[in-house]
Amino acid sequence: MTAMKGVFLPGDFTAVLRDVEVPTPGPGQLLVRVGASGICGSDLSYIYRGHKTHVGQEGAAYKGVVAGHEPSGQVVETGPGCRRFGVGDRVIVYHISGCGRCSNCRRGHMISCSDPERRSAYGWQRDGGHAEYILVEESTAVPLPDELSYVDGALIACGFGTAYEGLLRTGVGGRDDLLVVGLGPVGLAAAMIARGLGATRVLGVERSPERAAHARSLGLFDEVLIADDGVAEAVDEATGGRGCSVTMDCSGAAAGRSVAIRGAAEWGRVSLVGEGGRLETEVSDLLLHRQLTLYASWVTSLQAMEELAFRLVRWGASPQRLVTDVLPLEKADEAYRLADSGRTGKVCLVPSLDR
Ligand SMILES: [Zn+2]
Ligand SMILES: [Zn+2]
Repeated sequence: MTAMKGVFLPGDFTAVLRDVEVPTPGPGQLLVRVGASGICGSDLSYIYRGHKTHVGQEGAAYKGVVAGHEPSGQVVETGPGCRRFGVGDRVIVYHISGCGRCSNCRRGHMISCSDPERRSAYGWQRDGGHAEYILVEESTAVPLPDELSYVDGALIACGFGTAYEGLLRTGVGGRDDLLVVGLGPVGLAAAMIARGLGATRVLGVERSPERAAHARSLGLFDEVLIADDGVAEAVDEATGGRGCSVTMDCSGAAAGRSVAIRGAAEWGRVSLVGEGGRLETEVSDLLLHRQLTLYASWVTSLQAMEELAFRLVRWGASPQRLVTDVLPLEKADEAYRLADSGRTGKVCLVPSLDR
């Protein structure tokens, strides 16, 4: 057995490199050489800063495996019975392997698999992408188009998929303007995707001045507003007092969600994709009397992820533009510290910088 490096997260604000065995694919499994592996907000909140369990998701906590649930790479070996992918194929890995039989798995939403024995997330309950190789169920692999890089693929594996699904729920298109609250990687992805989907105007709201500056530099937003005490008035001013027909909270903070609700136009659609915290809102004047629709969306489906990769190529969009830092696996500790500073765009790990 050959050894490889894998990154583990003990939960004490460190990322530790250890030698692990290169796995051998069993029936229906692929061995994928990792091309890139993203660091996610959920890795920081639920693993890196201390091991925590999602509320209502018993058994979902980190099991001390190789971290990283946002991998993409190239198939180097296939186990018996693989039918769709072969050696040399480039793939994106969907977060989670499910039972494949329950109704959510059959909808492609393995994230919501109802079989706790078989639901297993890469980088949480089974080895993930922060390594040179990852063992992948063929059923969780999605083709990575040739036009896209491995870093693009890593972004699609989580943040872009999450943003796409949250936007699809609202049906955002050419008759809409969009307000995105929270301009971390998911919020930036939402802006890029909304452009592709035809949204006519995209506004952003962000608390951190560094992140706001980064968002402005990408040219994806018509305007980026700072989330201070006057943000509601600033949204009014930017929208002629009407608000936006679609708003999306990617901040995961109660205050951010309030901005998304307050910033929605009458009959508007509000999409919630940011994890954690609470939703606090006045009901009558803010929701009912303004005829709002609220959507709550968690990750995406296998089908939507595959479709998104294809759409991004058609749109000529480049997800990797949102990446501010690419570090080799050996510098995982530094990469996590950077990502945890909250001042960067997306941070990605690659096995080695010369690949
Ligand atoms: Zn993620
Ligand atoms: Zn299932």
